[in-house]
Amino acid sequence: MTASASTGVPGIRDMLARLISLPSISSASPEWDHSNEGVVRQLAEWLEPLGFTVEIMEVPGMPGKFNLIATLGSGPGGLVLSGHTDTVPFDDKRWQSDPFSLTEKDNRWYGLGTCDMKGFFPLAIEAAKAFAGEPLQQPLIILATADEESSMNGARALAEAGKPKARYAVIGEPTNLKPVRMHKGIMMERLRFDGQSGHSSNPALGRNALEGMHEALGELLALRSEWQEKYRNPNFEVQVPTLNLGCIHGGDNPNRICAQCELHFDLRPLPGMNMDTLRQAILDRMQPLAERRELKLTFAPLFDGVPPFETPADAALVKACEKLTGHTAHAVAFATEAPWLQKLGLETLVMGPGSIDQAHQPDEYLELSQLQPTVDILKGLIKRFCL
Ligand SMILES: [Zn+2]
Repeated sequence: MTASASTGVPGIRDMLARLISLPSISSASPEWDHSNEGVVRQLAEWLEPLGFTVEIMEVPGMPGKFNLIATLGSGPGGLVLSGHTDTVPFDDKRWQSDPFSLTEKDNRWYGLGTCDMKGFFPLAIEAAKAFAGEPLQQPLIILATADEESSMNGARALAEAGKPKARYAVIGEPTNLKPVRMHKGIMMERLRFDGQSGHSSNPALGRNALEGMHEALGELLALRSEWQEKYRNPNFEVQVPTLNLGCIHGGDNPNRICAQCELHFDLRPLPGMNMDTLRQAILDRMQPLAERRELKLTFAPLFDGVPPFETPADAALVKACEKLTGHTAHAVAFATEAPWLQKLGLETLVMGPGSIDQAHQPDEYLELSQLQPTVDILKGLIKRFCL
């Protein structure tokens, strides 16, 4: 490995090649799920010689999953550069190169996580190198989280622990270095009716869950229309909140009264919409319907959800990133850990190298032309918020 003489810390390419070689897939399927410990320990090994104080925290209830908080300097404010250490699973047959080795071709670096988002760490460390040994007025914190691609439990655990403390945070998710100050939330919900089966010739013999679901679908679509009339945000490509009916299963026979029916649907709330309020509004429509039809109602989230996120257009961090990049902050269609960093009181923005079009795709890559601009922008942010 080539290393900078003063610190022994490798250059960008060597760092990224090493991170890519360490599998850290996170997935709800146990056969895919990996520990991220290798990535976190490796980051610590590079950050400590630069003067960072490193804290590695295991995510409660998730053995083998770790968050890393590396802090350079001290003080009441400070800037967090944040990334997730995990990647999504991959389809080996659709990759032209080895997903776990960094392959350079056509001015791109290919590999699993190059763009989403292991590539951010070497660039953040490279930017930090320039300030190692300089007295910072406010701390610079490099934050590396676990399980962003699956449960977001790394970020959740940080919010619960009240760490890290700082004033500003940039999450380096791939946005082609354009600042992003809002995204929608993600909710995935499960609705189920249990009734009573019986012979189809006499409806009085049973309680039909499928008919209950038919009525429930009507209520859900009516709620969707109400929300779409009430909420609109022109910053988004899809300006209204969405509700997608994703899949439905129920019944077994044409001549049997359907005893159970289950629907899974997805909701994407706009900033300003509260997830608990939305769930309650749905429940308020479903409960009377279930009671009237004597159906047992189950309504539960399929996962905890990601809240919508928004940082005001006139926030200091938004203004600084717009100035450094020449781009007005905008909205994106994907969700991030930003809501949990906001919960920590951090003014938060999403901005990093690479394009979301390459994320979660075979032959994922990072354009080499994004490397130096990223380092320059991050140095600019460190100067603005830490010096
Ligand atoms: Zn990501």
